[in-house]
Amino acid sequence: MDLFYMTAHELHGKLTAGEISAGELCRAFLDRLGSVEERLQAFITVTEEMALKQAGEVDKRIAAGEKLPPLAGIPIAVKDNMCLDGVRTTCASKILYNFVPPYSATVVEKIKAAGMVILGKTNMDEFAMGSSTENSGFQITSNPWDTERVPGGSSGGSAVSVAAGETVLALGSDTGGSIRQPASLCGVVGMKPTYGAVSRYGLVAFASSLDQIGPFARDVADCAQLLNVITGHDPLDSTSAPGEKTDYTAFLNRDIKGLKVGVPREYMGEGIDPGVRKEIEEALKVLSSLGADIEEATLPHSRYAIPVYYLIATAEASSNLARYDGVKYGLRDEDAQDIVDMYMKSRSRGFGTEVKRRIMLGTYALSAGYYDAYYLKALKARTLIKQDFDRALDRFDVLVCPTSPGTAFRKGEKTDDPLQMYLSDITTISVNLAGIPGISVPAGFSGGLPVGMQIMGRPFDEGTLIRVAHAFEGSAGHRGRFPSL
Ligand code: GLN
Repeated sequence: MDLFYMTAHELHGKLTAGEISAGELCRAFLDRLGSVEERLQAFITVTEEMALKQAGEVDKRIAAGEKLPPLAGIPIAVKDNMCLDGVRTTCASKILYNFVPPYSATVVEKIKAAGMVILGKTNMDEFAMGSSTENSGFQITSNPWDTERVPGGSSGGSAVSVAAGETVLALGSDTGGSIRQPASLCGVVGMKPTYGAVSRYGLVAFASSLDQIGPFARDVADCAQLLNVITGHDPLDSTSAPGEKTDYTAFLNRDIKGLKVGVPREYMGEGIDPGVRKEIEEALKVLSSLGADIEEATLPHSRYAIPVYYLIATAEASSNLARYDGVKYGLRDEDAQDIVDMYMKSRSRGFGTEVKRRIMLGTYALSAGYYDAYYLKALKARTLIKQDFDRALDRFDVLVCPTSPGTAFRKGEKTDDPLQMYLSDITTISVNLAGIPGISVPAGFSGGLPVGMQIMGRPFDEGTLIRVAHAFEGSAGHRGRFPSL
């Protein structure tokens, strides 16, 4: 098999056996990236020099006879909304085109400490607002399975970089589906951990009560390894959960006999593409053949999830994005006549259409006279949605559904209709509203395009998601098919 489609655990074996050096591995991935990037446009910045230096450090450790940690020397890509000291961090926005952070995000410090090799920063929807990566202020990323189609979003660049063999692992962020949906559309594994499980220090905020960082991987075992690296309490993030660290690899290779799996009926009916539904029904048969107990579940307030999300997320975004005024960071309009003019011109020029739309929606929802009717009402409905999950997860160990209602759509297909775009997250958004973990695993193909299955679980029970996902992956036989580029 091609080196660039191998998993981290396979490559770790090659590194420790001395079959390849970390430097050679890094070079091979940089070459691969160079050969496909023109078609895919997954990266905003490639950090070649830094990557080769980090790989060199790993080779020194190997030469010194050190026992290599599991992800040392393994290439990784980072979504361009996480700070990497000294490297441009743009959020794919013109307003941050020149922003170079003076520090690294906690997750970036953690992957560095694990000896991972950072290949670069990936493309995304501007400020993570979108489901197709078409809202990037810089470039449009292509889906490697069909370059006429979108990779999903907002972490489209990270999903593509893993799916196309430009890197082995990647980090993304997920506010309403931005890791799971592109993972599904690109045929890779992607997880949104529980709110608070991963530090967000150094992640550029979009909607602070929903944002969470998580892994993209080629298989579930790699996902568990990367989760081990990035989880854990961080005093620098006040929303980071205290507690002992879990070893998620301990949940691999366990059976799922007698496990209770609920299938929310609201997520299998209307709006779900029949080809996608068929693959998920097949996947449920696989789970059942492994001994899981499958039953219908219900999340009765699901139909409020999209409106609730678009009130809460936009309200928080309008507040978070107030800081981009041309004073401290990024773009400043030089022709402005006075300070108010400078704020207005810098923001008008710096933000793209979708970001402006959300700032206006959020400002409206928070304004005096509307606050109670919209924002407060949305918060109450959010509680009802959360209670639906509490009840369902009292009865079931996990819930399973399609990650996305359809497969990868054509570029431009939904750009003129924001509502259609918003509906692509119908099965992922409530997971963020409830703060619970969710993982997307490859579950077959429909019309030649990947389909993902989402597994949702109890707060801080990522272990069970890994367990179910790994058992499914081992039996379903969907691995081993790669995009031809
Ligand atoms: N697609 C959703 C949105 O546009 C979710 C994005 C995300 O998870 N960052 O807001």
